[in-house]
Amino acid sequence: MTGHMSVKEPALSEEEWRSRLSPDRFHVLREKGTERPFTGELLKNKEKGTYHCAGCGLELFSSESKFDSGSGWPSFFQAVKMENIHTRKESSLGVVRTEILCARCGGHLGHVFDDGPAPTSLRYCVNSLSLEFSHP
Ligand code: FE
Repeated sequence: MTGHMSVKEPALSEEEWRSRLSPDRFHVLREKGTERPFTGELLKNKEKGTYHCAGCGLELFSSESKFDSGSGWPSFFQAVKMENIHTRKESSLGVVRTEILCARCGGHLGHVFDDGPAPTSLRYCVNSLSLEFSHP
């Protein structure tokens, strides 16, 4: 990634996204791929800071809402701001899930489930490849 975009809704072509992102990030963010569980670089990160969209830099999650879900993907019980994350019901193989996407660039982040811890009971299950971490 070559820096964070400042425009509100970047409308990049597939080719532009391919040149901006590594192949594995492209697959997850733009083709709704899923990284293999327990492989993500940020899964065990316990440092204080902020998790940004790896596509456009938008702030998504704080280290303060990260928890160990045992799922194999970085998990958070809330977003930095509700409006920074869009949700969308999807159904594949007969299973209905709620996809989460970056509100600014539309990048696929993962899914949100209702089996998370207090205070929200939500579990935002996010691909490490969709995220970039920064210290405060
Ligand atoms: Fe984004």
